[in-house]
Amino acid sequence: MFSLSLIGLATLVSCSATTDQQTSAHSPDPSHEEHVDCAVLRCVALTFDDGPDQFTEELLNTLKSAQIPATFFLIGSKVEKYPGTVQRMSAEGHQVGSHTWDHSDITKLSGDQLDQQLIRTDTVIKKLTGDSPSAFRPPLGHHDVAHNKLVPYPLILWDVHSHDGRLKESNKIVDAVMDAIQPGSIILMHDTRQVTVHAVPELLAQLKLKGYTLVTVDQLFDGNLRISTPYSSAPREPKQ
Ligand SMILES: [Zn+2]
Repeated sequence: MFSLSLIGLATLVSCSATTDQQTSAHSPDPSHEEHVDCAVLRCVALTFDDGPDQFTEELLNTLKSAQIPATFFLIGSKVEKYPGTVQRMSAEGHQVGSHTWDHSDITKLSGDQLDQQLIRTDTVIKKLTGDSPSAFRPPLGHHDVAHNKLVPYPLILWDVHSHDGRLKESNKIVDAVMDAIQPGSIILMHDTRQVTVHAVPELLAQLKLKGYTLVTVDQLFDGNLRISTPYSSAPREPKQ
């Protein structure tokens, strides 16, 4: 079900609309606003689910020193436990998305329950960062047409799974990603796991060596994402 790539191009909605008048940018890092031409470059997006958590700060340190932006899909109920981490994430140019309030499978929720999951998460993220989440990742990747219609964000899936839920060594996680990566890929990882966070420096080095440019999900699609629509990678038509 989540092998869908890009569905339709009509009625494009810029999901970066919420990034105008960004919060107080404490950091000089302008990566969030920077325009990157992914029609020319070999762009890929690193995404981290299920945080914020105890290892997220270490990950932010790694990303900051490498000057790499990523996209975080946050669990709303955890956001208030790590307010400084969420503010830092936003201020340092990372894209902040929603991953429901408590990691519910959205296909099992009523419309009202789904609304509550999304609204509560939106509220806590906006309170800290000044912005609503700009994208949504359905927990477990579970989604269906009926529920997608109720999601007022683009649904961001993935085409590259790091398998960091089962792999116990950082180098295996790096290999899993490098074996599957292509221009336009969206990489699924979890900042709840120390082994994942420890894999990131080597992963960044290998991606750089292969000529990849790391961008946020918004940058990967140049802001052209439609609400209620699932995406698992950027379009791959050869350019030029
Ligand atoms: Zn998750």
